Amino acid sequence: MSSPFWSPGLEKLEPYVPGEQPRGRKLIKLNTNESPYPPSPRALEILGDAQLADALRRYPDPESCELRAVIAERFDLQPEQVFVGNGSDEVLAHSFYSFFRHNAPLLFPDITYSFYPVYCQLYGIEYRTPPLRDDFSLAVEDYSGPAAGVILPNPNAPSGRYLPLEEIEKLLQLQPERVVVIDEAYIDFGGESAVPLIDRYPNLLVTHTLSKSYALAGLRLGFAMGQQPLIDGLNRTKNSFNSYPIDAIAQRLAAAAIDDSAHLADCCGKVIATRESTVQALRELDFDVVPSKANFVLARPPGPGAEALYLALRERGILVRYFNKPRISEYLRISIGTDEEMDALLRNCEEIIGSQT
Ligand code: PMP
Repeated sequence: MSSPFWSPGLEKLEPYVPGEQPRGRKLIKLNTNESPYPPSPRALEILGDAQLADALRRYPDPESCELRAVIAERFDLQPEQVFVGNGSDEVLAHSFYSFFRHNAPLLFPDITYSFYPVYCQLYGIEYRTPPLRDDFSLAVEDYSGPAAGVILPNPNAPSGRYLPLEEIEKLLQLQPERVVVIDEAYIDFGGESAVPLIDRYPNLLVTHTLSKSYALAGLRLGFAMGQQPLIDGLNRTKNSFNSYPIDAIAQRLAAAAIDDSAHLADCCGKVIATRESTVQALRELDFDVVPSKANFVLARPPGPGAEALYLALRERGILVRYFNKPRISEYLRISIGTDEEMDALLRNCEEIIGSQT
């Protein structure tokens, strides 16, 4: 569709299509990397709090001071080093606008979070995508030379591969004049965060989300951490879009969830254990599994192919992610659910593959 009312070029914008959120039919849902466990009970208590009525009557704190203080304490930072947004997608959008509009290409891997090229299109940012190696590992040397900046998820998505901190440091040193965004949406599932490097690298911005490890994808809360000039840059952009970005309920609920580190550790521990047993079981079924430190695995099934298996699983009420894209079209991305959900997945994979070969 197109319209003469649209600004020039709008018809070429290809919006991001998120993974399917099925309505009605009850499925085992392993397609969008949500948590299979409930959010912190301490966060949910907020919803029954009588003071919430009063908080809702008023505009929310435009600067989310309490929430930023809780995040700062958790990461040993100052509140001025924290920026919050409606999901890390929004935080990333502000980062692209604030830092990556230079006269050079933004660099990110060829296989990565598919929102990055969408933001580039939206803001007219040119980009270059150094290819990952055959095993989906990243060669930092590819990220030198003139650039508007660098962005990558660590662990990467949809591969799940993790880049050690020494490599992140090399990347920061290769681009000292530009911002390097490390998107740590999946860091709580076994990786080491780059946040402690913030002190030493003024060009480092680290983003986190409450959508995965905190089981709060529906809340829409993400945040960025970096030295104050970067956070000030994000605030300039944010205030030009929306001076009240985070609603009053989300501010309180997110603060309580982040404060409940025991619940986080418990849920992540369970997901990691299930991931390890799932990887082993998939390998026993002859899947080629990419090593993962995320709450999902990228795996190439044996037999007639990934799309056929995706469709057959769907038919049986199990949803996984299939990407019809170069290099990964032979793979499925499988989110880690409960042990029971993974048992059902593995049982069905075995039956389908057995009947197809
Ligand atoms: N970064 C990566 C790598 C992701 O996979 C996702 C989730 N699709 C996000 C950021 C965005 O998460 P949210 O907006 O829910 O915080």
